[in-house]
Amino acid sequence: MPYRTMADCHSHSDCSFDGQAPMEQMCARAQSLGLLYYAVTDHCECDQYDGSPQFGGRKYYDVVRRAWRELEENRRRFPDLHLLKGVELGQPLQNLPAALDVLDGRDYDIVIGSLHNIAGMPDFYHLGGEHFSQDQLDALFGLYFDQLREMLDWGKFDTLAHITYPLRYLYRPGDTPSFERYSAMLDVIFKKLIEQDKALEFNTSRLGRTDCPILPDREVFTRYRALGGRRVTLGSDAHCPENVAKGIPEALDLLREIGYTEYTVFVGRQPQQIPIEYIP
Ligand SMILES: [Zn+2]
Ligand SMILES: [Zn+2]
Repeated sequence: MPYRTMADCHSHSDCSFDGQAPMEQMCARAQSLGLLYYAVTDHCECDQYDGSPQFGGRKYYDVVRRAWRELEENRRRFPDLHLLKGVELGQPLQNLPAALDVLDGRDYDIVIGSLHNIAGMPDFYHLGGEHFSQDQLDALFGLYFDQLREMLDWGKFDTLAHITYPLRYLYRPGDTPSFERYSAMLDVIFKKLIEQDKALEFNTSRLGRTDCPILPDREVFTRYRALGGRRVTLGSDAHCPENVAKGIPEALDLLREIGYTEYTVFVGRQPQQIPIEYIP
């Protein structure tokens, strides 16, 4: 490890529909890597809390309860691992009672706020194969930023996940994914995060991959920092043990280049700044 400490604050066990390994195996991997903190943040897609044919009718109501039980079991199983109890709360405003039910009575360490789909539309992932005109893309990104803003006005989460998520799928062939056209809308989101003392997640799941477009992480974090954004959580978004902490050293390299000297971890939903200590 080129860094004295690393934390991975976004990962999934097989409690999530797309997770590939039991939480115990995810934790064992995190322990073997010597992470300072490790969070399992299984999905709760709030808009599918009551069952979804897409996932065989599996209800997130049940997923949340199972994941919580397993978090508590694995805390006991790995007393030396700083396992953080987390959840990735997807589209909370698309089913507000569900989001509130998830948070009620569970003392999470970290709640990740995500927006995987615009209200009434499929996950951006499923829009990938479509060919959109520039006007259509502008309209979609307009809705995306509007709905992120509404999520922030609600505010019951700690870090905003993978802000570049739609850029993974929505760009015109030959274009480099960028937020350049939407910089004013992006600034609104960053200013709200800063005002509310929330963090912006650096999602490292695409770093170093050659089979997908390069995301504008440098552009995003440079601007966030210029506006005063100091809180950055790191998340591999691992869905299997091999990917735990993957991309995090590269993200720390980039953050250092931009001028960051610390990253953020949430413990008991309180932000803690951890120094970035490079070991040459
Ligand atoms: Zn996500
Ligand atoms: Zn995730």
